[in-house]
Amino acid sequence: MSFDLALRGVNLPTGETGVDIGVKDGLIAEIGHQLGPAAQDIDAAGRLATTPFVDAHFHLDATLSLGMNGERNESGTLAEGIALWGRMAPGITAENYRERAMRYCDIAVSQGLLAIRTHVDVTDRELLAARTLAEVKREVVPYLDLQLVAFPQMGFFCREDMADSIREALAFGVDVVGGAPHLERTAELGRASITALCEIAAEAGAMVDMHCDENDDPQSRHIEALTYETQRFGLQGRVVGSHLTSMHSMDNAYAARLIRLMAEAEMQVVVNPAVNMHLQGRYDDYPKRRGLARVPELLAAGCRVAFAQDCVLDPWYPLGRADLLDITWLAAHACHLTDTTGLAASFDAVTRAPAELMGLDHFGLRPSASADLVVLAAADPLEAIRLRPARTHVIRRGVVIAETPAARSALSLPNRPSALNPAVDFKISGA
Ligand SMILES: [Zn+2]
Repeated sequence: MSFDLALRGVNLPTGETGVDIGVKDGLIAEIGHQLGPAAQDIDAAGRLATTPFVDAHFHLDATLSLGMNGERNESGTLAEGIALWGRMAPGITAENYRERAMRYCDIAVSQGLLAIRTHVDVTDRELLAARTLAEVKREVVPYLDLQLVAFPQMGFFCREDMADSIREALAFGVDVVGGAPHLERTAELGRASITALCEIAAEAGAMVDMHCDENDDPQSRHIEALTYETQRFGLQGRVVGSHLTSMHSMDNAYAARLIRLMAEAEMQVVVNPAVNMHLQGRYDDYPKRRGLARVPELLAAGCRVAFAQDCVLDPWYPLGRADLLDITWLAAHACHLTDTTGLAASFDAVTRAPAELMGLDHFGLRPSASADLVVLAAADPLEAIRLRPARTHVIRRGVVIAETPAARSALSLPNRPSALNPAVDFKISGA
């Protein structure tokens, strides 16, 4: 067979080395050694090729808006971020939503990030952000899979007809039912919102992804109710608990029981290490809590866990650069996942796990999967996490859509090499 494109001599996340990937008609045609000719060859000898990075939790409606209305979040709290967004959002135009979202997608592509699940605020009755992002979703689909979550940022009960709005959003292109039970006015209303939202999802055949227990309060236990309703409505494997930061502060015995129930309900978890550590612990003296869900325990119980970006340059978070390797590097440290298995799981949590969580079955390193691939200036997943190197080639449906040269420093030192290549020169002596 003659291929349209072939990656030559790559390493795979499984540990296989020196492999060729042959691409034909936008699909992976063959993976093997010394494959036949191709119209285009990419010599990637010794470099890691992987399925794309996938961000399972983001806010595209708010991104790149930092300081847009002259205000910034000075306290670093979730509450100030929400208040700031509440003042900013009503003045944002469709064109402004579109321009920022499109620009972020450009940056994402350059980082090998080819799928994003974004929550979209549906507080306004006109659903301007959701309608605009539904158009953006259709516009970017040739190069990026966008999934939209109807997110009642100010609460499901902030207005009486929110259920109608969420159904309306699902009808015009929003994919997933969102929520934020811990932000309702009372715990009882939070509980009621979970039931109402799961009911909407069940009747629409939609997935559910709720911001849940995003605080340091060990008594914030909405994930328990979400887990229960997941089973009651038969939504197993289709529900995500995002953030779950209160798990960090829960009593160990309660957490152990909760995790068993979550695994039983096939609850999926998205942790946002950068934003969680930034926003949580803000009311603590020392020691300050990290505010992260119990990732090693959730993984050990068999729950699917993804690491996500959440925010970049918005009312909640002043940093970020659409790099899921930054995110997993942080998570590996903060969750004590720095052993061999933990680092492999961390790489998985920004590639395979979020793709499965979003139902992106077309991604995969196998024949007949979509030829959506990323080549990195690193030899293996561990080195990729450690160096967070350039994505030298980003490939969508068999076409190279972004290229970034590997970093190289020129040195002017007496009797020393004239150049330094981080992927090569950090190698352990004798390894
Ligand atoms: Zn979020």
